[in-house]
Amino acid sequence: MELEKMDENEWKYHGEGNKSLVVSHVQHCQVLRFLKFPMELVESNQASEAFCHLQNIVDFGKHIMKPLLGESYVHYGEVVQLPLDFVPRLFLKIQSERPESRCNKIMDTLSGYALCLPNLTRLQTCHFIETQPTLCIEIKPKCGFLPFSSHVSKEIKRRVCRYCMYQRLKVANGKWKKISKYCPLDLFSGNKQRMCFALTSLLQEAQNNLKIFKNGELIYGCKDVHDCLPDLNELAQQLKPFFFPANGLHCKMTVINELINVITTALLSNSDSCRVGDMRRSHFSESRTYCEASHFCKDILRNVKSSQDLKKKKKKKFLYKLLVSKMLVFLKIYSLLPPYCGVTLSLHFMSCRKSLLQIDGPYNEIFTENLLNFHAEDDGSVEYAATKVQQYRVAMTAKDCSIMITLSPYLQEEKPEQSTVINASKSRFAFSVSILDLDPKPYENIPNQFKLDGKIVNYYLKSTQTKQ
Ligand code: ATP
Ligand code: MG
Ligand code: MG
Repeated sequence: MELEKMDENEWKYHGEGNKSLVVSHVQHCQVLRFLKFPMELVESNQASEAFCHLQNIVDFGKHIMKPLLGESYVHYGEVVQLPLDFVPRLFLKIQSERPESRCNKIMDTLSGYALCLPNLTRLQTCHFIETQPTLCIEIKPKCGFLPFSSHVSKEIKRRVCRYCMYQRLKVANGKWKKISKYCPLDLFSGNKQRMCFALTSLLQEAQNNLKIFKNGELIYGCKDVHDCLPDLNELAQQLKPFFFPANGLHCKMTVINELINVITTALLSNSDSCRVGDMRRSHFSESRTYCEASHFCKDILRNVKSSQDLKKKKKKKFLYKLLVSKMLVFLKIYSLLPPYCGVTLSLHFMSCRKSLLQIDGPYNEIFTENLLNFHAEDDGSVEYAATKVQQYRVAMTAKDCSIMITLSPYLQEEKPEQSTVINASKSRFAFSVSILDLDPKPYENIPNQFKLDGKIVNYYLKSTQTKQ
């Protein structure tokens, strides 16, 4: 990318979340990720802080999330400074394509800074878009375990996962029309049957947890709360050439099942080494691995050996690792955080100790060492509280990330290296798995998170009691 010759016509709208807006290059496998601000804050100094904010995101990805989740999955990118006239022109070009429900925030057109990242809807081995057809499945899995600390305040939290509880509130609030049958614990179970059920449920009710891209274009998922593209027939048509390259009649479900099998295989593929995988494995034995609200057949669930599967055999698998990274940071934290959210946090962290305790970074090796210090005793010190807060923040980040599984038909005749190829019934794919959206969450969010947790649990209890 030649920064001085940026042309807005070479970029197109790709997607956005709550915090950032992404455009992709029409030829190269690159994206630019811009920060977004609420309308009323546009004129404030947020834009002038954009560089630091973006650099923090890069450092957090590089020094914290990459070692935790594994070298090959995390692409932290780099901060780039764009020509100042390019960004407003780009903004004008893409504004009409943005979903209405996202337009309450505006992209940062003032600072001139953005993150440049590889386009993860493309296979990471190709540099130009036209080289290979690709299919990319983006899953936002959410939190795949139940907290087991003896300090968890509400007993229901140990039986029903946050995602399943939150569904009730979201449907009641009108955010989504239907309760999804997806349960993250099924997806993270390591049991093929449960994983297939979770993926089928995601396909039926994608909400903002599933998107499918074909050659970089969104073909399935909700672009907007009111603008979903959930036609499974249409999807099957689009997928057919990938899974059944020789023409022929195949029913919709045959094609969809091929997709589900391939995703499951990719998620259970071997992963590279990471620091977290070696730690605290024993804690799995303490929490239950199924959620009582899961729609997966309850009788099967109780007999399934999945929890054992996961504990014994799948230590190096991709999902396992993601789960552990979320899990260990929750140890004891529920009990410790509330006092620190209020008084202690504001008193100590807003003072000069904030930088000493690295509350807002820098996210470097020292930060990682502190973060992984799980053996420290609670001595009532601010340092101990700070470590707990940081662990909690990493868990919040992991809870919100997306997994991208990118597939491209494998055409070469020679025998491929098994680890990077998936065999489907009538086709074969080269694939890569990556994780995106690994931004640090501001610690100021923690009290809000607790408030929301309380609301979710209360509504769930109320709605299930009314039903009985
Ligand atoms: P959230 O509201 O989930 O926190 P966010 O505002 O942090 O989202 P991202 O999730 O990073 O934004 O990006 C929004 C969307 O843009 C993603 O869901 C994904 O579809 C797409 N996207 C982001 N980064 C990339 C990338 N490197 N390659 C391809 N697509 C990307
Ligand atoms: Mg996101
Ligand atoms: Mg995000």
